Amino acid sequence: MWPADLSGDEKGRMDRLQMLTDRVRQAGCRITKQRAVILRSLSELDGHASAERVYEQACVHRRDVHFSTVYRTLERLRDLRVISQMDLGRGCAEFEIIADRPHHHLICLECGRMIDLDHSYLEPVAEAIRRDFGFEPFLDHLAILGWCGECDKAERSSELGPERRE
Ligand SMILES: [Zn+2]
Ligand SMILES: [Zn+2]
Repeated sequence: MWPADLSGDEKGRMDRLQMLTDRVRQAGCRITKQRAVILRSLSELDGHASAERVYEQACVHRRDVHFSTVYRTLERLRDLRVISQMDLGRGCAEFEIIADRPHHHLICLECGRMIDLDHSYLEPVAEAIRRDFGFEPFLDHLAILGWCGECDKAERSSELGPERRE
């Protein structure tokens, strides 16, 4: 199939896969067949995915993939800063491809709403950490847990607190 015939989604997926593959190679890491399947699965999932979800997707392409291999590979990709690992408050670690520009999330613990937070909010924090600690923070993908405006307002207007609300 010619690239011109690809749908937008398919084009996006192939771009993501190319970017992932390039980054892994640049980091001096060999692309084994198993790793290639895991990179392909990550490019297909596009977004936050648990190790279990990546494993399920990898199994679509290869039956001989083991969960432990998927997990180890995800950890390796995380250490290479190709993907990020974070806790979105859903009970398991989730992985996501690190885009050219970092992105972050505000997550409401009460209603589960997820609000995107632009990296510009964190740039001054990173700068202050570098200045005061000489520490290079990896702020690729951050989840800030809390209460959204509506849940916070509901909590303030109720003496019982949000967990006791109807
Ligand atoms: Zn994210
Ligand atoms: Zn909320």
